[in-house]
Amino acid sequence: MLVTLNEVLPAAKAGKYAVGLFNTVNLEMAKGVLAAAEELRSPVIIGTAEVLLPCAGLEDLASILIPLAKKASVPVVLHFDHGLTLEKIHQAMDLGFTSVMYDCSTLDFAGNCEAVAALTREAHSRGISVEAELGHVGANAGNGDHSIYTDPEEAKRFYEATGVDALAVAIGTAHGAYKEKPRLDFDRLSEIAAAVDTPLVLHGGSGLSDFDFQETIRRGIAKVNIFTDINCAAADAAHDGWKPGCGLTSLMPAITAAVKEATMRKMELFGSKNRA
Ligand SMILES: [Zn+2]
Repeated sequence: MLVTLNEVLPAAKAGKYAVGLFNTVNLEMAKGVLAAAEELRSPVIIGTAEVLLPCAGLEDLASILIPLAKKASVPVVLHFDHGLTLEKIHQAMDLGFTSVMYDCSTLDFAGNCEAVAALTREAHSRGISVEAELGHVGANAGNGDHSIYTDPEEAKRFYEATGVDALAVAIGTAHGAYKEKPRLDFDRLSEIAAAVDTPLVLHGGSGLSDFDFQETIRRGIAKVNIFTDINCAAADAAHDGWKPGCGLTSLMPAITAAVKEATMRKMELFGSKNRA
């Protein structure tokens, strides 16, 4: 069934588990993620991000993902991750995405508050949930200087000003594959979780240790974004299965199976198994 963040994240926050967002850019990935959710009876968030649109456009993906989400036997949120332009966010909402992230994290505090508050009012009037980011989770440059960390006091003011349904925090993670071992600021996360009621989101989760996930979830993370792990699992399966003369159709089942397996590992780790 197709739902918003508000049907899955408050229960995750209360139950001290997290629901994964698994970005998907084609049918094989989508089938793998949804098969994992159904097998483990886990709620799931599926979708794409603005930077991934060259792989598959919003309209094409919506036409694949909405019917799959509706017929799934577990709650599925269709989320547009890291919306950067109002044009694409509006397109996602018009196409039937049930949740959008409006990433204004490169603006100053006042600018981020104002832009996200306006979009949140509009989205809520249409029954769509909104995630925003405070602080900035950057790309992994390997120089240890990839994030502007979230300030707990600002998080409280941001939440009160915007009413967002989920808040992405910057506590030392980075997007993409890690070039050096990340060091997470767990105490900062606990302070943010104590200051705001809204469920918190961890971006840049691919490559973190099992301990990092368990500790951040224990301290208040209710949604974890995963892309690199399942993206690489799909490519590894294609590589391992290929032999001369082999066609794409003979690799597709292995790709879907690899995405399913990688997704199930994360769901077990996040504690969302048997929560649907
Ligand atoms: Zn992100």
